[in-house]
Amino acid sequence: MKSGVVFGDDYAKLIQNCKNKGFALPAVNVVGTNSLNAVMEAAAKNRSDVIIQFSNSGAQFYAGKGLEDSFGAKVLGAVAAAKHVQLLAEHYGICVILHTDHANRKLVPWVEALIEESRKNIKREGVPFYSSHMLDLSEEPIDDNLQTCARVLKDMTEIGQSLEIELGVTGGEEDGVGADVGDDFENPALYTQPEDVLKAYDLLTPLGHFSVAASFGNVHGVYKPGNVKLRPEILKNSQDLVQKMRGGINPLHFVFHGGSGSEKAKISEAVRYGVFKMNIDTDTQFAFAEAIGGYVKDHSDAFQWQVHPETAQPFKKQYDPRVWLRSGEEGIIQRLDEAFVDLGARGQSVAD
Ligand SMILES: [Zn+2]
Repeated sequence: MKSGVVFGDDYAKLIQNCKNKGFALPAVNVVGTNSLNAVMEAAAKNRSDVIIQFSNSGAQFYAGKGLEDSFGAKVLGAVAAAKHVQLLAEHYGICVILHTDHANRKLVPWVEALIEESRKNIKREGVPFYSSHMLDLSEEPIDDNLQTCARVLKDMTEIGQSLEIELGVTGGEEDGVGADVGDDFENPALYTQPEDVLKAYDLLTPLGHFSVAASFGNVHGVYKPGNVKLRPEILKNSQDLVQKMRGGINPLHFVFHGGSGSEKAKISEAVRYGVFKMNIDTDTQFAFAEAIGGYVKDHSDAFQWQVHPETAQPFKKQYDPRVWLRSGEEGIIQRLDEAFVDLGARGQSVAD
């Protein structure tokens, strides 16, 4: 496949290849060019394709906190980021899936505005901006959730995009979207139900390409060990039901939210049951912060004075943002080296 951002049939082929070969791709939330370029560099270094995603507030941050109109900024930021990736991804020699993360009911207009921007870009450049978008209406009754997903998927199919839906509520909160499950990890309503997945499969399969963010005990963020019990067999139960009723092998494309801090054996098990995408946000945020924190600690004088008041030593080479921001990028790359191995993705790029 040609390197760069993938859409439509290429996207479908790329993720089917992951599932056939039994590996998954990390989907990394980014907020600016530092995290974005670090993800592409890490993917190139690991000879893997990768998924880059923006939350609504990540997109807004990309546009700049100085822009007042927050809805407009969320759209502009997502478009600016997509242009950045489309220009650069092919030069990294990997395939990139470009995606937007959780959009609840009040963010549906954000996704629809981005679909409209993609439509316009097809007229200009022949390609949409995003490979896929997520709608997270998992807090609503299943029929309301699926009806909206069906309506949006029809529009997306026309322009070669795939939809990620959510069934069952992922615990924790990410950028203001999501549910606070508290200590209620045993509540069966939080786990994806196979009957709901079958319902989604029947409604959406004729309309286009879609994936399912499933809840199997996964939570956003990183918690004290032992507080989160992952149950990948919940994914298998849904695959088994759909396979039995409608055929195919692992017919569902699953997404694993809240991958940060997860046990490696549970990651491998989830991948076996049809997970092609694992979201990582918290761990790469920390990797960036930790590396910069270490740099600042080691060079504390340079963050207080331009020139040392007693020795007259100039610190320009140490406070140059290209040095300490780079250490943050290296922190992200190091964390992703681990993720590519955990997911079995290292060396698996389909790019020429
Ligand atoms: Zn999520």
